[in-house]
Amino acid sequence: MEHDSENMIPAEFYSEYEERPFKSCTRCGETLKDFEDGYQVGKVYRRGETIFEYALCHPCHVKMMDEVSAESRERLENFQAEHLQLNLGRQFCAVCGISRADIPDQEYSLAGIFEGVALIHSLTICGGCTEHMNSLLSQKTRDVWRDFINENFPGVPADALPDPNKILVM
Ligand SMILES: [Zn+2]
Ligand SMILES: [Zn+2]
Repeated sequence: MEHDSENMIPAEFYSEYEERPFKSCTRCGETLKDFEDGYQVGKVYRRGETIFEYALCHPCHVKMMDEVSAESRERLENFQAEHLQLNLGRQFCAVCGISRADIPDQEYSLAGIFEGVALIHSLTICGGCTEHMNSLLSQKTRDVWRDFINENFPGVPADALPDPNKILVM
C-alpha cells in the first residue's frame, strides 16, 4: 500500500524548524522516504517547545551506533530490556510511567521510528529517565553525540545547544 499523505505523521514529530514533517536526514541529507528500512525522528521538548530535533536515516543510525562503544551499547540494551515498557503510549514515560502532564518542566524526549509516512513505533522518555540512561554511556559514546551535534547544527551558539546528556540515545 502506498501512503502519500503527510497527515499520518503526528505533528509532534514535525520538524519545528521546517514547519512540516522531516524530509531529509540530518546527518547525510538524503531523502527519508527513499529508505526502505525507515528512519528515526528524535525530539527534545521543554515546556511545549522543541529544544532539539533530528531525523536519522537507517544507515546513518547504524553508523552512529557502530561508533558507540560496545560497553555502552550493552548497558543501554540491558537497561532497555529491563526497564522499557513499550505498551504505554506516548503520553507516559516508557521507563518510569509518569504521565506527561506530571513531568517537571514538561521536559522529555520523544522518539519515533517511521517507514515513509507511517509511524511504526514511538515512545516518550521523561527528562530524568533520559539523563539516567545517558549516565550509563561512556565518555566516548557521549563524544559521538557531541560530534553529531557540533557537525550538524553549525552556527547554533554552543550555549543554545542542548546538553548531550538530555538527548535520548536509542
Ligand atoms: Zn542519513
Ligand atoms: Zn521517566
